[in-house]
Amino acid sequence: MSVDLILQGGPVFGSDRADALAVRCGRIVAVGPAVDVLRLKQSKTVLIPLRGRPVLPGFFDAHTHFVRVGLERTFYVELRTARSLAEALERLHGAARDRPEGWIVGRGWDESLWPERRYLERTDLDRAVSHQPCYAMRVDGHLVVCNTLALARCTRPDGEFVDRDLGHLREEAAWELSRLARPDRDTLVEAVTAASRHAASLGVTSVADMAARGDLAVYQMTAQRGTLRTRVFLYLPGEDLSALEKLGVSRGFGSALLTIQGVKAYADGSIGARTAAVGAPYRNGGGTGQLLIEREALARLWREVEEAGLQMAVHAIGDRAIGEVLAAAHAAGVNRWDRHRIEHLELPSPDQLDEVAALGLVGSMQPNFLQWSGPGGMYEERLGPERDALIDPHREVLARGIPLAFGSDGMPMGPLYGIGLALDPPYPTQRMSLSEAIRAYTEGAAHAAFAEGDLGTIAPGKQADLVVLSGDPDRQPWGELAVDMTFLAGERVYLREGAA
Ligand SMILES: [Zn+2]
Repeated sequence: MSVDLILQGGPVFGSDRADALAVRCGRIVAVGPAVDVLRLKQSKTVLIPLRGRPVLPGFFDAHTHFVRVGLERTFYVELRTARSLAEALERLHGAARDRPEGWIVGRGWDESLWPERRYLERTDLDRAVSHQPCYAMRVDGHLVVCNTLALARCTRPDGEFVDRDLGHLREEAAWELSRLARPDRDTLVEAVTAASRHAASLGVTSVADMAARGDLAVYQMTAQRGTLRTRVFLYLPGEDLSALEKLGVSRGFGSALLTIQGVKAYADGSIGARTAAVGAPYRNGGGTGQLLIEREALARLWREVEEAGLQMAVHAIGDRAIGEVLAAAHAAGVNRWDRHRIEHLELPSPDQLDEVAALGLVGSMQPNFLQWSGPGGMYEERLGPERDALIDPHREVLARGIPLAFGSDGMPMGPLYGIGLALDPPYPTQRMSLSEAIRAYTEGAAHAAFAEGDLGTIAPGKQADLVVLSGDPDRQPWGELAVDMTFLAGERVYLREGAA
């Protein structure tokens, strides 16, 4: 047997005695001790010495918005790292100066990190950008602040989702506006190309994408151009379901790179925007959030998704929303072998977790959300310390045997960062071991997308999607490690500068 590639001389995640693996035609063909694997070496085989560095399965980000991740690198004004409200406005102002036509779109602002500790408002944006429509989306994607010119495009009346005085649009109103300002196709293809390059640098080889309308065409075009170097598993908006049904597209349709998986629905919003539907009111600002879909409507959608042979992924963060989703799952007749998903599952009660387990639902969770948990954090500020201590209970999820998939929601993308938070969280119910956390970000995420036969572990027959870390986490603190190399189907798609 001729092999194309051998990695040797470092621990292989998931196998005790292996320190080498071989790849042929994009798939792993051998895993074992180097003395055995090296026997497969021929003159054309590329040999990569690991020098003690571990090789892991490629990370699978179970929940992203890949187009958005790309646009953040190519088109949006980056506000995530703004250290104050004033700095966020300066960046928007600067972008308008450099690009004096069309929309100015800011992304990722997070007032919980600012000394001002307040949301951006319409009058702020009017001062920063006065001659172009401008909007800026909060880090969680559930709240948009508009300047007056952008607000003029919103046709909804004032109410639950629209506050014209403050220039705030929430949920559907926010998404409608962002669709109006959607960039052209070429800009989007360029964004996905950038997202894919970025993913490779983070060790991410697969993503489950919670797509927006029209994204499928963008991915397809990027794949045709040869610049999509990440496997994308698509969860399309509910409004696309009838088209999928008409065509007879069911779960798994697509190619090795681009697959249609299912449909995404929203049961509520986010804690940051105070729109996650919670049982007891938020601490400051009151209210109990918003349910975005009726139980009966969700059950009907679920049944339809199931009949179409597709997978359901429902966004539910607050305990009230999670309760509605579970009731809808029962009403739809979901059974434990169907493997549908709850996205986020942030604030479940212990009883709800028992039900999640009984229904066989996958918990698709984001360890990087722990950045807002703990004393002084945004979750504590919104919910109080008691409920903050119950949020993102990874330990409880695992203890019940609920299949756990880790993703980032693009806040920010980066498994090393997310895993680091799960290893050292503010509360014990959130803590995971290193191998549990890595499994959730590889095997668990692959299982959540029905891709475990091909992806998620290092074993003969699997796709050679691999990551080499810069050092051994058994000998070095996790926070000091970096991604040295990333392989997609045996092809190196990333090499860190200075690494070899
Ligand atoms: Zn999301």
